[in-house]
Amino acid sequence: MSQFAIFRHYPDLIYLDSAATCHVPDVVLEAVQHYYQQLHGNVHRGSHRLGRLATQALEQAREQLAIFMGAPAAQVTLQASTTAALNQLADHLPVTWQAGDEIVLSWAEHHANILPWQRLAQRYQLQLKYIEIDPVTGALGAWEHLLSERTKVVSVSLASNVTGAVFAVQPLLQRAQQLGAWTIVDAAQAAAHVPLRVTELGCDALVLSAHKAYGMTGCAPLYLSERLLAQLPPMVVGGGIVEQVSPLSASFIDGVQRFEAGSPNTVAIVAAATAVQWLTTQDFTQLQQLRSLLVHELQQRPWLTVLPSGENATPTVAFYSTEFHAQDIAIWLDQHDIAVRAGHHCAQLFLQHWQLPAVVRVSLGIYNTEAHIQRLLQTLDAGWALFS
Ligand code: PLP
Repeated sequence: MSQFAIFRHYPDLIYLDSAATCHVPDVVLEAVQHYYQQLHGNVHRGSHRLGRLATQALEQAREQLAIFMGAPAAQVTLQASTTAALNQLADHLPVTWQAGDEIVLSWAEHHANILPWQRLAQRYQLQLKYIEIDPVTGALGAWEHLLSERTKVVSVSLASNVTGAVFAVQPLLQRAQQLGAWTIVDAAQAAAHVPLRVTELGCDALVLSAHKAYGMTGCAPLYLSERLLAQLPPMVVGGGIVEQVSPLSASFIDGVQRFEAGSPNTVAIVAAATAVQWLTTQDFTQLQQLRSLLVHELQQRPWLTVLPSGENATPTVAFYSTEFHAQDIAIWLDQHDIAVRAGHHCAQLFLQHWQLPAVVRVSLGIYNTEAHIQRLLQTLDAGWALFS
């Protein structure tokens, strides 16, 4: 807590919404200030000192983010958000689409990993197929029968933003690659909690949002496999990626920088690198204990139902009550300075598929303590006693 300025401003706030966005530690705020006070210029174009310093800061940040992802820096491009990157990949994947080609997703996807594929499917008359989620463990269900020669893309998340379940996607991705499909991983929820080893996963692309890993909004490192890097055209075109322009066409530079047209969000990229370096020095084991305590305690309350997520889940827990609407629970908690999220969590398909109502999501961050869990439980109980 003491490392986070926001909690010095709001000492009574219990923030349980880190899956939406994490608060940034002071070390990240200091890096932001340092960047603007001493390094800021536009990158890759200034023939002056600040242009060089900013470029150096950006390229160093790329290296640190690549280490965090377990990838070579030459295969990590710096995008604005997970949502933007998934949209751009869907629109530019090197596939000659035929009607009836298939895209495989799971029922647990965030809208950011559904809607771009739906739009593509509508454009080319493609089939969308969804992998089941095991209702007891929260794990991915059987997927073998969904893959075929017609599968052109498999795009799945590494962890659920609703239940925190971590999905064992490696066998799925490797099999899909054998069949010649492009494999994409949405690591937005996993990044802060699951060690990333992108080169071992069998994915052609993996993206995460730095603001869900204690960085700022505006930076999403996107890993690209060698084969995708070799074939993917620039997804956004403009300044900074051009080799030669003629009146009717242009040629582009090689490497990941060709996916970074325009002025990048350098400060967010520097902040992201600082955040992940800081993150790797923190002890997250206490978060798993807090999660187990929270799940155990919620399960003791018969008026609440906790969604299954498995042992190795991220510290995100969802529950609902048949007595109270999730939104009412969230408002009650907010009145007591406890921040949670309620609703469908941009995962309407997931809730519809399981015929679930809106749920309350409690997502823990490194700044949470056992006292916070106890306050949450006491406040829930007090609400139950008052309104039931
Ligand atoms: N994917 C998952 C699993 C998410 O939880 C989120 C955000 O909540 C996103 C994608 C979208 O991330 P962003 O809003 O940073 O683009």
